[in-house]
This record gives sequence, structure tokens and C-alpha cells, in this order.
Amino acid sequence: MIQKILVANRGEIALRIMKTVRKLGMKTVAVFSEVDRGAPHVLFADEAVCLGSAPSSESYLRGDKIIQAAKELNVDAIHPGYGFLSENAEFARQVEEADLVFIGPTSKAIEIMGSKLAAKAAVKKYDIPMVPGTDQAVTDPKEAIAIAEEIGFPVLIKASAGGGGKGMRIVNEKSALRSQMERAISEAQSAFGDGAVFIEKYIGSPRHIEIQVLADTHGNTIHLFERECSVQRRHQKVMEEAPSAVVDHELRMKMGATAVKVAEACNYRGAGTVEFLLDENKNFYFLEMNTRLQVEHPVTEWITGVDLVEQQIRIAQGEALGITQDELKILGHALELRIYAETPLEDFLPSVGTLEVYQLPSGSGIRVDNGMQQGMEVSIHYDPMLAKLITYGPTREAAIGKMLEAIEQYRIEGIQTTLSFGKFVCLHPAFRSGEFDTHFVRDHYDPAKLQEARESEARIAALIGLKHYLNISQQLRLPNT
Ligand code: ADP
Ligand code: ADP
Ligand code: MG
Repeated sequence: MIQKILVANRGEIALRIMKTVRKLGMKTVAVFSEVDRGAPHVLFADEAVCLGSAPSSESYLRGDKIIQAAKELNVDAIHPGYGFLSENAEFARQVEEADLVFIGPTSKAIEIMGSKLAAKAAVKKYDIPMVPGTDQAVTDPKEAIAIAEEIGFPVLIKASAGGGGKGMRIVNEKSALRSQMERAISEAQSAFGDGAVFIEKYIGSPRHIEIQVLADTHGNTIHLFERECSVQRRHQKVMEEAPSAVVDHELRMKMGATAVKVAEACNYRGAGTVEFLLDENKNFYFLEMNTRLQVEHPVTEWITGVDLVEQQIRIAQGEALGITQDELKILGHALELRIYAETPLEDFLPSVGTLEVYQLPSGSGIRVDNGMQQGMEVSIHYDPMLAKLITYGPTREAAIGKMLEAIEQYRIEGIQTTLSFGKFVCLHPAFRSGEFDTHFVRDHYDPAKLQEARESEARIAALIGLKHYLNISQQLRLPNT
């Protein structure tokens, strides 16, 4: 039985995992870099180990040091969170070789699904709908042109090892293909250490719909419905929700069954996510599988009542799933806004600085998965996500209302964040009506409008302040008059 878990991560996700570990009566071990010495995840843990200096390559990516620390502290299992080592098959293998439990799938499954090409190859025989394109790496521009002409422009060049929205190039015409491909290959090589790229049809107006799956080691695989993550910037999610506003019961069950097949195709174990694109005609296509806990997992937890981290741990210690597909029901609606340290007014450029004021919202229907506190520095070394704001309501409209309420309550000063963008999304008719796709930002987002809204808010705030001041000064004068 697992008694002590080391969480090989930082920030909100390290804390979120440790909370469940503690709930299950197990001990927690944190790891940290020198700049994170006083971070909430370190303070929360029962024990903590410093890995090295700030750069991830010196700390959170040092699998060797992490395993060594785990051995020294008699840890039973390692939870990798997301990012960092979570999808590193070599690390998963080393953990198991060190006689520790890796809370995640087998290294083999990580290896297959970590490569978008290998993933496509693995699911091919299971009759999974896929975006038209190549199923092998392309290096020859001539071949690429022939393929692109066959599937039709625009096409997308993708890095097989890509992730986090990186490593994608849209090509609109034949003349640009050669140069874009050369760039894509060299970028993929330097960013992911793997130059393999392939070509996919560029779907014009897709929605990003993904299915959460859970698989145990006793042959049971279930899905926990969908999440919609179409509100993105730079091909990366900013706002997510469950369920999707456009997926009906029939489509849900069809996509769910397909996701289960994808999981079974790689002998999956643990929690995973199968990502799809949904086109305007409600056709769906397999994109990739993420072999880890996903950033946006809380929305699924809220509508199903299932603690996904608890399930990961139970599966890792060999328990059979305690939930069947038929028992699962969707109750209500949940939204998540990723609070990134970015400037929505300037193309979502990173914003660094000190959190001079940092106060979280609270109340029923509000959950904040947070890893920061007032006074902390937002470091350039790590992912710029500070926290996730999750809200819940019996209906989609109620969840959106809650989100607006929570955004008002959230106070962050010292850096710019995506809070204001979240408000823009929640107020936008396209989002409210459910009629949007992955181009929400391109098609609807106008920083000038955000700026206008801010200025008029500031004006209203100033007027309220003035009125308040006048009232008070009048009251103060009253006794004299
Ligand atoms: P999710 O897929 O969980 O919805 P993201 O796509 O934003 O969320 O990725 C989650 C985290 O994993 C981020 O920290 C992101 O930078 C990181 N990440 C994902 N894939 C890769 C990859 N192939 N290489 C490096 N980092 C990655
Ligand atoms: P990553 O590993 O970076 O998460 P994905 O393949 O999951 O890469 O794609 C991320 C996002 O990029 C999708 O949610 C979608 O917005 C966009 N995208 C990916 N493939 C296509 C495609 N073939 N057509 C249109 N958009 C795409
Ligand atoms: Mg993806």
C-alpha cells in the first residue's frame, strides 16, 4: 500500500495533488528549486527537498535527483503532475526500475501517445476518425506538396513531439510550404529534440472537445464525459468548461466510446485525456492523447463528483475502479479560467513582477486551485499560470454568472493577468450563446474593447467613490446645519 507520495512538480498542481494525498491519509513530499523555497506547495508538504537552482533543467526536470530523494525519504510513489516530467517515458521507466510506483500510465503508453504520429499509428486499426493527413513524418518538401494538394490547402504542419500549443504552422498556399516546413523541422528539433513533422488538414472552424478517461489494471476503462476547451490563444487553452454547450447525449456517448477505444489501444492505465476536434457538421477527429492529469481536470471533477487524483492513486496501488460507466451522471455545469501572468491588452505577452496584492475569491460555487501568495515573485523560469479559477452552477448560465462574480472578487495587483480576458469572454454573446470555435480570440476578441470596458469601469468606480465621499461629507456636515 502507498503511504508516502512525492509530488514532482510545483505551483497549483503540486498543492492540489497533495491535498488529495493528505485526504487519503498518506504523507506528502514536495520538491522545490531555490527560488521556490517559501512557496505554498513546499510549506504544505510534510517533508520537502531542494533540487537545485531555478532553471527547470537544474531542478524540476532532474529526474535523477527526484528519484534519489524519494529513495532517501522512503517514498512509495511519485506523482508527476502535468508538464515537467509527466510525459517523459524515460523518467517513468526509471521510477519503476527504482522500485517506486509511477502514478500514471506505463512508460510504453507514454512513449506511444507522446508522439502524435505513433499515437495515430496505434489507434489506426481501431477505426478511430482522424484528421485527414499524413501518418508518417515528412521531410521531403516535394512529398509534402503532393500531400497538401491531395488534402487541400490550408494545411497544418505539426511537430510530432509538440505540446502546449507549440510547434504548429498553418500553410495557406503551395508557395509557402517548403520554407514553412524547413522552419517547422528546425523548430521541432530545437524545442522538442525531435524534428519529426507531419501534415494535417487545417480544420477551418473546429471546437476542441476532449474526453476524460480512467483505466484500472483489471481491464476496466470508463470515460467521464467531455470538456470543451475552444477558448484558446496561441493554440493553448485559456477557458474550459464541462459539459460542452454543443455536445448532446448521443454525440457524448459516441465520443466517449471512441476515447475508451483509444485508451485500450495503448493498454492505458490511470487518468488520461483523449483530444478531438469537432467540425461544424459535428464530425469529430482524434487529435492526440495526453497521458497525464490535465490542467482543466477540475471541471470534470465538479460535474461528476469524482476526485481524479484520488482515482489515479487508487489505480496506481492496484485497486479496481469503484465507479462504473452507468453510475456516472453529469450534474450541473463547471467553468475554468486559467489565470496566466500575461497582458491580454498586448497579445497575451508574459507579464512578470511581484504580486503586490493577491487575494482569492471564495464562496459557494467557487474553487481556486492556486499556487501563489501575496508578495511572491512571478518567475520567468516556469509556466506563467498562477492559478485556476473554477466555478459551478446548476446551469451553464449560472456557472458563467458565478465566474463573473468570482472574477470581481479576485484581486491581483503588481502584474497583468488573464482575469480581465475571462470577464470579456463571459460577457461576450458568442460565448454566452455557445456559438464559438477555437478562433474565438481572432474573431471576437478586441483588446480595444477590453480597454474601453476598463476605462468605463474606472469611471464608474470613480463616480461611486465621489458619490460616497459626497454622502459622507454631507452626513458629517449635518449636525451643523
Ligand atoms: P493541457 O494539455 O493539460 O490542457 P497545456 O496544453 O496547457 O494543458 O499543457 C499543460 C502543461 O504541460 C503546460 O505546462 C505545458 O507547457 C506543458 N506541456 C505540454 N506538452 C508539452 C511538451 N510536449 N513539451 C513541453 N511542455 C509541454
Ligand atoms: P498540443 O499537443 O499542442 O496540445 P493539439 O494537436 O492538441 O496540440 O492541438 C492544439 C490546438 O491546435 C487544438 O486545440 C486546435 O485549436 C489547434 N489544432 C490542432 N490541430 C488542428 C487542425 N488539424 N485544424 C485546426 N486546428 C487544429
Ligand atoms: Mg493538445
